[in-house]
Amino acid sequence: EGLLRPNTTLVWTESPGSVTMEVQDVPAIVAAAHARGVPVALDNTYTAGVYFDAFAHGVDISMQALTKYVGGHSDLLLGSVSVNSEAMFERVGSVFADLGMGASPDDCSLALRGLQTLALRLERLQASTLAVAV
Ligand SMILES: *Cc1c(COP(=O)(O)O)cnc(C)c1O
Repeated sequence: EGLLRPNTTLVWTESPGSVTMEVQDVPAIVAAAHARGVPVALDNTYTAGVYFDAFAHGVDISMQALTKYVGGHSDLLLGSVSVNSEAMFERVGSVFADLGMGASPDDCSLALRGLQTLALRLERLQASTLAVAV
């Protein structure tokens, strides 16, 4: 809460954080930001959007690098931005058009290919991670 300034218009989070692997208290961050009317975005790449439900924890904008878990074959450069409401889409959606960003049909096809095995790969990843961690 102490980090919010009068001109703060967005709180950007990444949990776990790259490099530090710090796991943030997302609901507490959301509560502090929303109390000031500030939306919260989360880089949810590490959970593949599967192991952490950003929207259930109050996040307004959830983004993911689809390059890794979703792609699954190291041949894709793609990302996603998802929002929790029509109102948030109105704020964020036009940015993509304004900046001229778009996803190619080929990249979307590769992402769809990766999604077919995502569940199996995540299961294996979680089992291996827990075996190493425990
Ligand atoms: C890799 C990564 C990104 C960026 O991915 P690209 O390879 O540039 O698509 C963003 N956030 C996190 C947490 C990542 O691990």
